[in-house]
Amino acid sequence: MQDARFINPLHLALTSDLSLIPDMPRSQVKYVGRFAPTPSGPLHFGSIIAALGSYLDARHHQGRWLLRIDDLDTPRLQAGADDKILAALETLGLHWDGMVVYQSRRHEAYQHALANLQSRDLLFPCYCPRKLVKGRPYPGTCRQREVEKDRQHALRIKVAPGTVVLHDLIQTEYRQNLLDEVGDFIIRRADGLYAYHLAVVLDDAWQGITHIVRGADLMASTPRQIYLQQQLAVELPVYAHLPLAVSQTGVKISKQSMAKDVLLLGAPNTVLFNCLNFLGQQPEADLSQAPVRELIQWGIEHWQLSRVPKLGSIIAPEKYRTT
Ligand code: GLU
Repeated sequence: MQDARFINPLHLALTSDLSLIPDMPRSQVKYVGRFAPTPSGPLHFGSIIAALGSYLDARHHQGRWLLRIDDLDTPRLQAGADDKILAALETLGLHWDGMVVYQSRRHEAYQHALANLQSRDLLFPCYCPRKLVKGRPYPGTCRQREVEKDRQHALRIKVAPGTVVLHDLIQTEYRQNLLDEVGDFIIRRADGLYAYHLAVVLDDAWQGITHIVRGADLMASTPRQIYLQQQLAVELPVYAHLPLAVSQTGVKISKQSMAKDVLLLGAPNTVLFNCLNFLGQQPEADLSQAPVRELIQWGIEHWQLSRVPKLGSIIAPEKYRTT
């Protein structure tokens, strides 16, 4: 049967560089997973959880596992972080398939999609200062406003009324009334950068991602992504949100909270062992000294998504916490 992704005309328009797509005919691949870090710093415990969880779920299902560098948000990027991330993944035995995709090389595709949405009158310019609308649902201020030529603006997508339902493979069903809880959201920022939601949806579709396994901090963003998938008529992937690694006070272990490079905090096999435990996989104690290859092999064979705690967050082992 022909893969629907190949006959979707919009998708064809977006597929500007097929050489980046890994070689296997997609119709034969039932599972394509991915890890998509932002290169704003080295891999910390929280990002390794996402990398390992997505890797093991993909490999356990004989799937492919792709790597994408989400390097659109230039102010957040750290020079050389992408190379460090690739090296850390290899040290941890997390080998990806195909070529690494960089979002910074995909501007043409984002522009295509934006033009498509614009031609359907789904976007409008927004002149609201960010400070004024940050952290609360967008009240729709600029929806009806007259367009002001040459004034710097963001582009927002009009959100339709209704509830978006996320059937997550780990967490309980998540519902969001997009219009009431989020409002019309940004597709291109006032500084000209394409928004994360647009890029992630287009790239996941273009890379043929079928399963997205990532941290639960992105749960609340998923309805926006589902809405965009519907508007862009791309296939919807399956989602599984892993518990987030947090400090004792519930703060996400992240680059923003100055989380340390996980490989500076211990041997790679110890990190993997701790991650397997965090993910509820219960590796036997004698595996704590096993080499990386053996731990990864064990993880692939024994992986059970049903063992991952159905929690939004879990306190990380002490040495990986920052606060
Ligand atoms: N690039 C995002 C991050 O590092 C993750 C994107 C995603 O998994 O959808 O937080």
